[in-house]
Amino acid sequence: MGLRQYRNFINGELRPASEVIQVENPFTQQIIAEVAKGGAAEADDALQAARAAQPAWAKKSAAARGEVLKQFAQVIRDHRVELAELLMHEQAKIAPLAQVEIDVTATYFDYYAGWARVYEGEIINSDDPQENIFLFQKPIGVVVGICPWNFPFFVMARKVAPSLLVGCTTVLKPSSTTPLTTLRFAELVAELDLPPGVLNFVAGGGATLGDALVRHPLTDMVSLTGSVEAGVEIIKGSAEKIMKTSLELGGKAPAIVFPDADMDIAIKGVTDSRLIFSGQVCNCAERAYVHASIYDEFVDKLKASFEAAVLDDPALPGVTYSSQIDRAQLDKISDMVDKAVADGAEVVTGGRAADKPSGYFYEPTIIVGAAQDSQIVQKEVFGPVLPIVKWDDYDEVIAMANDVEYGLTSSVFTRDVSTVMQAIKDLNFGETYVNREHFEGIQGFHAGWRKSGIGGADGKHGLFEYLQSQVAYIRY
Ligand code: NAD
Repeated sequence: MGLRQYRNFINGELRPASEVIQVENPFTQQIIAEVAKGGAAEADDALQAARAAQPAWAKKSAAARGEVLKQFAQVIRDHRVELAELLMHEQAKIAPLAQVEIDVTATYFDYYAGWARVYEGEIINSDDPQENIFLFQKPIGVVVGICPWNFPFFVMARKVAPSLLVGCTTVLKPSSTTPLTTLRFAELVAELDLPPGVLNFVAGGGATLGDALVRHPLTDMVSLTGSVEAGVEIIKGSAEKIMKTSLELGGKAPAIVFPDADMDIAIKGVTDSRLIFSGQVCNCAERAYVHASIYDEFVDKLKASFEAAVLDDPALPGVTYSSQIDRAQLDKISDMVDKAVADGAEVVTGGRAADKPSGYFYEPTIIVGAAQDSQIVQKEVFGPVLPIVKWDDYDEVIAMANDVEYGLTSSVFTRDVSTVMQAIKDLNFGETYVNREHFEGIQGFHAGWRKSGIGGADGKHGLFEYLQSQVAYIRY
């Protein structure tokens, strides 16, 4: 039997392409599917379709557009087990987490459907008593959404749900590494009564298809979730057009553990943050700063907690951790740990690829003794490696936490409310979690400072990313 084929979805049609992308199951290391590989021609077709569909889509009521999002939520729920299995196979995400991602994605569409009758403009007092100033909110137009491989289905919804709800039309590019769940969703969307061109899915490479989508004159906005490097390229590609970009990029989140922290909560919070999806999450705790008075106890307990991870087939019950996404990711993690050790740091646990018959496994790893200015403390690993740094002084630890080029998330563990409030004031990150793991809610606002991005996603503020204002001065 041949490999399962997935097609692009352009102007309401599922279309093959002359070239294909082969998709590997990282755990079995087998090729499991072939995906139509789009390029400049597919970018043009999809954007022409999105442009043609946009005025009529924007003229519908927001409530009517919200009904479409509810249909998306329903088809996801109707296929929730199938979609979760596909997600597990394309990226070695453990089965329960894959199911959570699918279910949260359905909820996400419902959540933004609920905004249809909620978002609004403003009436502003004029200096002239015979005048009203109205601030309208209008859709930006044609949006290109570009997704990473780590939460491919959820991040797809993060771009599609708010953009469609406010009257934009969308071309969505999944990562070439994990396009299957998104393209299976495209097959399900193809069976709905959606006007052609409103939503298009095209798979392909970043430097080829992605770049063509960004630079195309019909694109009004790009929303990327990915690396800082891709963000830089997208800013370059949008510069001449002066185009809006919304960028959700990498992070190097600090977790600060204070002397009065509840130790069990801190251990659980840091472990869950660092080891969820085998360490491949943008907002994960990437560095821990632990007060000297509890440092030894924390390191011992975290070591035990990391060593309790169950590494195996993502489909098996009880497994908590599986393969990295691919060989390149495994090699990158190994290189960063080797460099940390060469620079004088010490491995407490892990520090090597796990000995498994198949898959790209890297052991959950704790490193101590790394300098603040070393690569392992400064650069995103995006893998299951946690450097722990000892601290004595509040001002010093805040300075170290803030001293990175990223500014996505952060966390503090303490029982003292004054410490909580002071730390939130002093930390320069888009998110701060207190006494819990790093993981955002759909009604919050996920937005990084510095190189972690521009703009953000989720909640009210994520919706307004896809709107532009028009002020009307009305004298009567
Ligand atoms: P990546 O930057 O390699 O790829 C992301 C997407 O951008 C892919 O679809 C890719 O094809 C595309 N792309 C790459 N170069 C491009 C270009 N020149 N023009 C247009 N598109 C281009 O990232 P990845 O490896 O898929 O994901 C991991 C990275 O994503 C990590 O840095 C992680 O922190 C980040 N991430 C951030 C968030 C967040 O919400 N801030 C969430 C998930 C992942």
